[in-house]
Amino acid sequence: MHSRTARATSICGALLVLAGCTAPEGPEAAPALAAGCPVTERAAPDPERPVVDLDLRLADDLRTVTGTETVALTPDLPVAELWFRLVPNAPQSAGHRLAVEAVRGDLVAGGGYVDAGAASGTPGSLYRVDLRETVPAGQTVSVELDFRLRLTAGETPAGFDRLGVDDSVTWWGSGAPLLTWEPGVGWAQDPMVEVSGETTAAPAADTTIRVSVPGDLVVLTSGDQGRPRETADGRRVWESHDPVARDVLVAVGEFETATVEVGSTRVTTGVLPGADASAEELAERTAEAIRVLEGRFGPFPYPTLTVPLVSDDGGGEEYASSILLGSDDPGLVVHEVAHMWFYGMVGNSQFRDPWLDEAFASYAESVADGHTHEDDLDRGGAVGGSMADFDDQDEYEDLVYGKGAAALAAAREAAGEQAFDEAVRCYVETQAWTIARPEDLARALQGLEPALDVLVEAGALDRRDAEAAGE
Ligand SMILES: [Zn+2]
Repeated sequence: MHSRTARATSICGALLVLAGCTAPEGPEAAPALAAGCPVTERAAPDPERPVVDLDLRLADDLRTVTGTETVALTPDLPVAELWFRLVPNAPQSAGHRLAVEAVRGDLVAGGGYVDAGAASGTPGSLYRVDLRETVPAGQTVSVELDFRLRLTAGETPAGFDRLGVDDSVTWWGSGAPLLTWEPGVGWAQDPMVEVSGETTAAPAADTTIRVSVPGDLVVLTSGDQGRPRETADGRRVWESHDPVARDVLVAVGEFETATVEVGSTRVTTGVLPGADASAEELAERTAEAIRVLEGRFGPFPYPTLTVPLVSDDGGGEEYASSILLGSDDPGLVVHEVAHMWFYGMVGNSQFRDPWLDEAFASYAESVADGHTHEDDLDRGGAVGGSMADFDDQDEYEDLVYGKGAAALAAAREAAGEQAFDEAVRCYVETQAWTIARPEDLARALQGLEPALDVLVEAGALDRRDAEAAGE
């Protein structure tokens, strides 16, 4: 996510020649890459990944979503329960509410809410489905949940949020129970915290989304969406498929849309009446961000990208093959497009290691505008740590976004630009569609001691991770 839009990046973009905004050439180190690097092929998604079907209906009041979610999980560890995160019940989304109304399945024994730091007045931030028997690794378990999402108009504590209602638009990201399975690890049961961030760990899942909406409203959602079909009751049903979605965004409104092809990706943007930018302008801005970032991080991860602009004074939120924009600020667009690599494709536990996606997305802004945030490197405090390790929103953003981006830029300078870029590319391609950990990055940086030293010094990597990478 990106809650601030007024960072200094655009100033550096205009004044690139001034000291502090340039990206100096670093000493060239001999490329010494980790085993398996350099890579020529991107890792394929797990063929045993979860299959998720979301059948959603936006009511005529435009603020109630009812849905049925079907999940088929083939775990790589035995499971006796299934856990789901109910993100709208987080403190920062207070006002909205997500409730599970029924759960079904051959092995389902029951289900219940777990508070886990939920906003008061909501059922809980996690939902646990109990199974009648333990399901062994490699066997598929299927459950079906009925749920109701109630969206509230007006300000939430976090301001611009992943869920919202306005005159001509309704949007919800993380608006359905979110499977919290981390392959090889187990269930993520992290508590919600006051600091506003994503707080999820979700596997890439083969996901189908159907959304029924009133009248002729336009839907922009994750995945390869087709044209809507009309139903007898005067509604439209939009269907989309994303074979590797960790979480999905749905935006429904009076969108004007534009489509542009960039490389092998089809970008579809949508703006509301009276928006600051036209759909065509936003499409070109998004396409330019893709072009610039592909040069650094490799091919764009998805065949499609949808970009609804729903406000003119908010931030942004990343979803699988979709970006929610609350502003058309160019730096914000680059940041959120970068999340398609760092979050969308290279997943992470956004509770345990928020810097793995946020520091990289912020660092990616420098690819477009040259600003390396170098002043932020001197801030006290560690870039790494979980969402629970930061005292407040400012500290979280200063360290994870600001200092994190600065540390990655400084690591690049210390190691040599080409060697660092190749190592990061290796990290990206080998960790595609997984939930990565800091030690995976350290392994990719093996042999680039000056870069590892910078990241350890900034508290991004642990000394043990860096040393283990060299063994
Ligand atoms: Zn972000």
